[in-house]
Amino acid sequence: MKGVIIGGGIIGLSIARQLYKLGYDITIVEKNTLGRGASWAAGGMLAPLAEGLMGDFLKFCVESRDMYKSFVEEIEKETGDNVGFWECGIIYPAFNEEEKELLIKRVEYYKKLGYNASWLEKKDIEDMGYQIGKGIIGGAYFPEDKQVDNRRLVIALIKYLKKTKIEIRLFEKVKFINEKDGIFKSITTEKGEIEADFCILAAGAWSGELDPVNVFPKKGQMFSFKTKKKEELKNIFYSRRAYIIPRKDTNLVVVGATEENVFFKEGNTVGGMILLLKGLLDTFPYTKDYEITETWYGFRPATPDELPILGKSDVKNLYYATGHYRNGILLAPITAKLISDLIHREEESPYLKIFSFDRFKHKMV
Ligand SMILES: Cc1cc2nc3c(=O)[nH]c(=O)nc-3n(C[C@H](O)[C@H](O)[C@H](O)COP(=O)(O)OP(=O)(O)OC[C@H]3O[C@@H](n4cnc5c(N)ncnc54)[C@H](O)[C@@H]3O)c2cc1C
Repeated sequence: MKGVIIGGGIIGLSIARQLYKLGYDITIVEKNTLGRGASWAAGGMLAPLAEGLMGDFLKFCVESRDMYKSFVEEIEKETGDNVGFWECGIIYPAFNEEEKELLIKRVEYYKKLGYNASWLEKKDIEDMGYQIGKGIIGGAYFPEDKQVDNRRLVIALIKYLKKTKIEIRLFEKVKFINEKDGIFKSITTEKGEIEADFCILAAGAWSGELDPVNVFPKKGQMFSFKTKKKEELKNIFYSRRAYIIPRKDTNLVVVGATEENVFFKEGNTVGGMILLLKGLLDTFPYTKDYEITETWYGFRPATPDELPILGKSDVKNLYYATGHYRNGILLAPITAKLISDLIHREEESPYLKIFSFDRFKHKMV
């Protein structure tokens, strides 16, 4: 059976890998080069608790977070690459009493659900070896939230795919998805038509250009800097002001991210950078002399309710794997599994019902 995947970000690449292993003939069509969309721009946090998620989405994200260790171990074995997976835990600092109260409530809520979370006083954070800003009065600690170096992971996935018989078509923009009598038939690209038995729309923030799927861009700006020593920071610091993510085995730290409704407006801005730099200095004032190494931005695939859109569409054999918004790196393993189970075994996980596109139709009635 032949499947075509539109979009070569972490979602398209992870699904391609899974379906190839199950024996499918896969073609990926990418308008640029692989893995340079949101999947390149991201922070790589695997952070359902620091993100403050709740309900079914929390459960879904925790499941994917817990799949990560074996997901990266397999990919590292297949490629010989190290993808910077780090079970570093996340500290969420509070800068005032209001934030402290909210975070303590959150810690209690997660503890009741059986997740690992605790409250750290300022001194506890200092005792961990951190010189933190004067304004910090304590922080929530989520030891099981972690990270992967998303760029290294994407590079490894590409390396794996290039060793297989998966067809990779680069710099080929998909213009239309074609159906007949409600059944998927083919896609039309700038270079011609590609027929297939099924199609997966994994075009990230651009998915709405091809299908009325309710996905739109939310821009995020980021930058990175170098610390004096390797692993000078050993935890992620995540707050409303900025998240600060030290990379494993290096002196690189990435800092993000703004949340902007500016459609696909390119570029880093003075305002965006000031916000992030201030967030960094409020947390670690001593970094003011450290060297900035890169600035960048990307477009998160957002949806009206901030949840992903996964599974069947109204067109038979056209599937959605999009709208992952702030958590697409985290959700790559579970998305790849559920979409391939749906195609291969016609097994529809209850999660696919929860995150189905149908939820928007009900709201419109
Ligand atoms: C600043 C920032 C920080 C983030 N931090 C985190 C984080 O810490 N943790 C986390 O889990 N998530 C994070 N995210 C979210 C995460 O990056 C995304 O949810 C995820 O990368 C989405 O993956 P994707 O494959 O769907 O999209 P993308 O990586 O954007 O890939 C989509 C691909 O489709 C291609 N494409 C689009 N249209 C077409 C077309 N017509 N024809 C052919 N190809 C097409 C694009 O060129 C692109 O390569 C962050 C995002 C941003 C922007």
